[in-house]
Amino acid sequence: MKNPLLVQNTVRLKSVGSCIYCGSTEQLTDEHIVPFALGGRLILPDSSCVKCARITSLFEQKVLRGFMLNARTTGGFPTRRKKERPKTLPLGIEKEGKSIETELSPAEHPGLLHLPMLEPPGFFVGRDAKETLTIIGLETIQFGQSPYIVAKKLNTTTITSTTNLDIWSFARLLAKIGYCFAISELGLLPREKIPILPFILGKENNASMWLGSANFQLSVEAQKPTHAMSLVLVDTPNKSSKVLIARIKFFAPCGATGYEVYIYEPVDINSFLEIHHLK
Ligand SMILES: [Zn+2]
Repeated sequence: MKNPLLVQNTVRLKSVGSCIYCGSTEQLTDEHIVPFALGGRLILPDSSCVKCARITSLFEQKVLRGFMLNARTTGGFPTRRKKERPKTLPLGIEKEGKSIETELSPAEHPGLLHLPMLEPPGFFVGRDAKETLTIIGLETIQFGQSPYIVAKKLNTTTITSTTNLDIWSFARLLAKIGYCFAISELGLLPREKIPILPFILGKENNASMWLGSANFQLSVEAQKPTHAMSLVLVDTPNKSSKVLIARIKFFAPCGATGYEVYIYEPVDINSFLEIHHLK
């Protein structure tokens, strides 16, 4: 899958006025819904206190400078630290039966991104809560040179790309994006009713209950955004009520599988629908 990056202007949404993670109204900072470094353009102004911003930026950086670094560099994604951008990137190749590591410039590198596929959220499939996250597959998106051309140039038939996948940081980033997106669309939500909030803040490890991979098509994908997001109300497994979920597709134009994040269960679904005009 080859990714086209669409660069769009930044959009500052309405100021939130309190920390969406802890409720503090002191020293508020702006929050990008999708990180700036992944081409995210939506900003929630005054929505995170310094303390919570420190927590969220820590896991964001682990993802962005971790397993997404090669893709971000070769794909020319935005960075605030241009000077720190790597001049070369590692790539494993096989030469005369031996595995060796070589360094290539970003222009020569395949810049492969391996997106993890997760089990569906436990809540929807009746799985018990657990403190592990299960990766059921990887989807590879190419941001740089074609791996075939790279292999040909290096006079080898085998190139290997190694991923140090920090799945917990990735899941926290996913949860954060879903939660931020819900707030950007609906305004502040009752924090005590958002089960994934303690996970975002690193207080719990129960994410497999509330997020995972899912197959869906979003109408917004027709506009070919870099990342597609949508909020949907879905039935609970016993169909007794409805819950709000965020659907997220990173690098949507390449056709990667999406993710679902459980946001919350509105108390009164009819008034919720009336206020938010959701279908
Ligand atoms: Zn806070």
